[in-house]
Amino acid sequence: MTIPQGSTFCIDLHCHSTASDGTLSPQALVQRASEQGVSHLALTDHDTIEGLAEAREHAGALGLSIINGVELSCVWHRQTIHVVGLDFDHRDPEFLAVLASQHENRWRRARKIAERLSRKDPEPLLTLATEKAGGDVPGRPHFARALIEQGVVSDMNQAFNRHLGAGKPGDVKAFWPELAEVVRWVAAAGGIAVVAHPRKYKLTATKLRNLVADFKRAGGRAIEVSTSGQQSGDLGFLAELCRREELWASQGSDFHFPGAPWCELGRMEKLPAGLEPVWQHFRQPLEVASA
Ligand code: MN
Ligand code: MN
Ligand code: MN
Repeated sequence: MTIPQGSTFCIDLHCHSTASDGTLSPQALVQRASEQGVSHLALTDHDTIEGLAEAREHAGALGLSIINGVELSCVWHRQTIHVVGLDFDHRDPEFLAVLASQHENRWRRARKIAERLSRKDPEPLLTLATEKAGGDVPGRPHFARALIEQGVVSDMNQAFNRHLGAGKPGDVKAFWPELAEVVRWVAAAGGIAVVAHPRKYKLTATKLRNLVADFKRAGGRAIEVSTSGQQSGDLGFLAELCRREELWASQGSDFHFPGAPWCELGRMEKLPAGLEPVWQHFRQPLEVASA
């Protein structure tokens, strides 16, 4: 795709709404994206596409294009890795089924935590923690608040030190599928799998290269080269990795909430020259309005 002169093209391929752990509703999110000058936005909530329809419904009037997106959790050598899926068929029944299974994995973990912390009768704790999570699947901080309310502990520190921190009974690992499996799900739905924020896992360069090799073998096509909060040197390092492995390059803010100076919709370093932007491989060429 060539971008016409005088056009306003700004693409952000990673952000969150209240459909997962973001604080803005899909409607408020697209409003803010538009105010920030974003022209193309992929909403990539954690393991759900529930926000997509609302985002799309409100984006049209703002002249903003919505790209199908999701951020999937998986494991690779015991390390939790995030894979962004882009431009998949959001009606693909098998893909919808695996998203449901990811949701079920979260509930299985929550139930396990409740059982570990309240052996005789886990239900009241699970119910209370779910309440603390606003009706969604509770995580450890929600269990901590539930334990405080039950009078089991007096504060968050105590909750984590005694019950939920590393090595304690409530420290239950997530039940995520393998990286290769998740990559195949995205590809099977016609989408492009992208390694999200590759520097966040704090892997050595060798391990990161091994991760990328396994990712490619499974059908992964791109990595996020530019995202918020990168250290100096990260952009160049990831661009080099991208070129060497012949992957496509993605960019996304990973926006969750307003007010963080290091993270805003549409704000990230420009992709270095010589990389192949992932959006050139979307099923439909992007429409770019001239200014
Ligand atoms: Mn998140
Ligand atoms: Mn992530
Ligand atoms: Mn994210």
